[in-house]
Amino acid sequence: MAQRPGFPIKLSSQAQASTAKTPGKTPAKTIAKTIHPSPATKVAIKPAGSDPQGLGLDSSAVRQRMVQKLAAQGLKNPMVLHAMGTVERHRFVESALVNQAYEDTSLPIGLGQTISKPNVVARMIELLLEGATGKLGRVLEIGTGCGYQAAVLSHVATEVYSMERLKGLHEKARANLRHFRLANVHLLFGDGMLGYPKGAPYAAIISAAGGETLPQQWLEQLAVGGRLVAPTVTASGQQALLVVDKTATGFKQNVLEAVHFVPLKSGIS
Ligand code: SAH
Repeated sequence: MAQRPGFPIKLSSQAQASTAKTPGKTPAKTIAKTIHPSPATKVAIKPAGSDPQGLGLDSSAVRQRMVQKLAAQGLKNPMVLHAMGTVERHRFVESALVNQAYEDTSLPIGLGQTISKPNVVARMIELLLEGATGKLGRVLEIGTGCGYQAAVLSHVATEVYSMERLKGLHEKARANLRHFRLANVHLLFGDGMLGYPKGAPYAAIISAAGGETLPQQWLEQLAVGGRLVAPTVTASGQQALLVVDKTATGFKQNVLEAVHFVPLKSGIS
């Protein structure tokens, strides 16, 4: 596969927010399975945002164990595994849930939304990097949520543009990411279904929310040689991971495994 393009151009981190409003609800099922404490969570109990102490959740050993599990599950891109081993997931979840931060489970992040489980985050980013030599160029993420995946992406891409339609989560992600001082992450408040034309074309586009179809804007804003990975409802009526490659002559689409993401919604709230 051709190398994915890199785009060193610097852009403003200001997004234009759309004015449409479509408040909505997330099905409770995405959260229900995450709220039960699991027996394997006795690693340490520290509030999110606490300073490194060398033990417990602040220890990189906890993340290395998670990385070993990811590798055992078949994930193999060294850049992705390194990024997963670097980003402190416990800093992105509520203090009551920090002891589940390194389990392979999705967790509620407020406003009815969830942070994907580490395996899914790693899998999607690995798909983005397939065939790429070195880091990706500019990446567009739809659905910033708590900012965790944006932080992981910042280690595998030169620039990350991450859009969130819920003001509360956009602000939460900003607060969560402040600690990491990631100069290449640009948080944008707006409707990601419209993409972010100012940053286009993108070497990769990744959605953390599942739509009925792929928005045309994403396909337009993808660079030739670029790849899009998005949960989307397929012909069977179920959500599956869709991988779309943009070539000089058109689009190539692959439907992969079934997934369960929160819905992609239009407008801001
Ligand atoms: N990547 C996130 C996962 C967040 S869950 C993380 O690491 O935490 C998916 C997010 O997509 C939710 O926060 C939801 O509000 C957001 N979302 C849904 N539709 C959207 C849209 N049209 N534009 C931007 N964000 C959207």
